[in-house]
Amino acid sequence: MAAPEPRVIRLLMELRRQGVSDTRVLAAIERTPRELFVADLFLDQAWENRALPIDCGQTVSQPLVVGLMTQELEVGERMKVLEIGTGSGYQSAVLAQLCRRLYTIERHRGLLKQADERFRQLRIHNITHKIGDGWKGWREQAPFDRIIVTAAAPVIPPDLAEQLKVGGIMVIPVGDVAGLDQELLKVTRLETGLQVRRFLPVRFVPLVQGMPPEG
Ligand code: SAH
Repeated sequence: MAAPEPRVIRLLMELRRQGVSDTRVLAAIERTPRELFVADLFLDQAWENRALPIDCGQTVSQPLVVGLMTQELEVGERMKVLEIGTGSGYQSAVLAQLCRRLYTIERHRGLLKQADERFRQLRIHNITHKIGDGWKGWREQAPFDRIIVTAAAPVIPPDLAEQLKVGGIMVIPVGDVAGLDQELLKVTRLETGLQVRRFLPVRFVPLVQGMPPEG
């Protein structure tokens, strides 16, 4: 394999410095060409450690946040994972390399179509996606070993907690949906209920209930 480009090495070093230590997560980020997931206007910033705008007023998350969320999710290669908020598909592409199958839900049809084209181009074949309202999860495919939510919710959505296996982990930004006071939570489902740990202050676009007008 060709040696990674300097901008790729620079980003990986920054992620390490800021707490991403899981080598499987770092390798998945290294192998995922972020330039494929950003608009042409931002191509030169594709390997910078920052969130970038995508269509429909949404954003592709900052690589550090993708790294830390994926690390906290403790994904195993035999696991079935649910993602809410496909967006550009970048987080999906990173996760799909680490699990058996990824189910991902997006409410904007245009975004999902573009993401699907990127998955094909990268020959990622273990992603199943649908248009829908992620608040409700994906009942037909439940339960899941892991759930990741990439948009901020005011509370932990009850349907998602219910669709998580006992012993399973969910990573979700929760807090003020205006983006001011949000934290990433690592939620573990125990026999007796949910164990919640906060691990990072963040700023995500809101998890919106219901579907956009165009369908
Ligand atoms: N993981 C994405 C981040 C996208 S931003 C990436 O790597 O690019 C969050 C996404 O969540 C947006 O695309 C938004 O449309 C979507 N979203 C918001 N509320 C939703 C809901 N209720 N159901 C499904 N998707 C939702």
